[in-house]
Amino acid sequence: MEGRVEIKDGKAVIVPDSPVIPFIEGDGVGADIWRAAVLVLDAAVEMAYSGRRRIAWQEVWAGEEARKRYGDPLPPETLQVIGDYKVAIKGPLTTPVASGFRSLNVALRQIFDLYACIRPIRYIQGTPSPLKRPERVDFVIFRENTEDVYAGIEWRGGSEEAGKLIRFVRENMDVEIREGSGIGLKPISPFASKRLVRRAIEYALERGWRSVTLVHKGNIMKYTEGAFRDWGYEVAQQEFEGQVIKEEDLEDVFSGGLPEGKIVIKDRLADAMFQQVLLKPEDYDILVMPNLNGDYFSDACAAQVGGLGMAPGANVGDEVAIFEPTHGSAPKHAGQDKVNPSSMILSGAMMLEYLDWIEAARLIEEALQKTIRAKTVTYDLHRQMRGATLVSCSQFGEEVAKNLGGGKRT
Ligand code: NAD
Repeated sequence: MEGRVEIKDGKAVIVPDSPVIPFIEGDGVGADIWRAAVLVLDAAVEMAYSGRRRIAWQEVWAGEEARKRYGDPLPPETLQVIGDYKVAIKGPLTTPVASGFRSLNVALRQIFDLYACIRPIRYIQGTPSPLKRPERVDFVIFRENTEDVYAGIEWRGGSEEAGKLIRFVRENMDVEIREGSGIGLKPISPFASKRLVRRAIEYALERGWRSVTLVHKGNIMKYTEGAFRDWGYEVAQQEFEGQVIKEEDLEDVFSGGLPEGKIVIKDRLADAMFQQVLLKPEDYDILVMPNLNGDYFSDACAAQVGGLGMAPGANVGDEVAIFEPTHGSAPKHAGQDKVNPSSMILSGAMMLEYLDWIEAARLIEEALQKTIRAKTVTYDLHRQMRGATLVSCSQFGEEVAKNLGGGKRT
């Protein structure tokens, strides 16, 4: 029977056999990757549960299509449906640079308080990579999703508000800011930092990861990013005593060996971390970071495992979860049935895992691996591989669907 997923404390606790899942195709390449992905998701669910389970998709609109239909890029109808059904999946939405409306993606994250952006960076064998040993890459980014300079609290240079602020800090705090400057605020709170780190530690413990690393620029931004680090350690110490070990204690107390069932917590400066993930990716498991670091990091790390076409993601709060690829609407490739839908297919697999439909999620991951190992790939991977067969976005989806269950389907 069709029904709604119920979420408690960020986890899906009741999942009907036919959950209603709202989806947004999105702008640009969104429609292409969605069509390819939904074919795979439906086929995997059917195969895993012999028709006993099925997703009841419900289309809702945001972005360009919503503007055409409702005259509003983020209509209340869409928000109402997502709020009702709790778990949704979406394609990318375009955001204009330097002017125009604020990001719809950021708005969705703020409206539903989707505070944890979770982006696994896992190498799939056979994928072209600039690294010599990409098989060492397997970690998960936890990006704070609601604050930092991303909160959208900013004023245009020359505006009355920016002028007021410039005068205020000059008169009250003895701080000089150049006239005409644009101004943005970077709020980082203990509340948002702690709940993200808490979630990352829980995730690491539940899934048997070995370390959580706080990635920050706290040497320069002491009271925002530095505080993020301190609050992270505080959560680890106060709420996970006995389960989490600080890096220095690992050497001093445990002679470098991590006891079974425990995780190590450490921190790294963001700039150094960009080098670490290239040179020593095997030393890292869960990387937790403020919003802007997470944005940059996600795309850079995706490049290690095949690029943005291979990068899935989830935006998760305590009450709603929205799954989406890491990449944007890639307008220059829109409507060409060309780009790699793996980002959306893997985002769908993350969603199935969230619903605890693990069997279907695994079928998808295996089928995707099989397809890439067979060198049947879209243009982005094809141009980096020798002897590969180039397929369109939709053909790639069909190939993955055929390879479900080891390719037994005809
Ligand atoms: P983009 O991520 O859309 O694309 C950058 C490049 O990455 C593309 O030109 C393409 O070469 C490659 N790429 C992206 N997706 C791919 C795929 N599935 N397969 C193969 N290659 C792929 O970045 P952009 O062009 O800078 O941004 C376009 C728009 O998307 C902007 O308006 C931006 O604000 C928005 N955006 C939205 C989201 C989101 O919806 N969550 C995220 C990032 C950017």
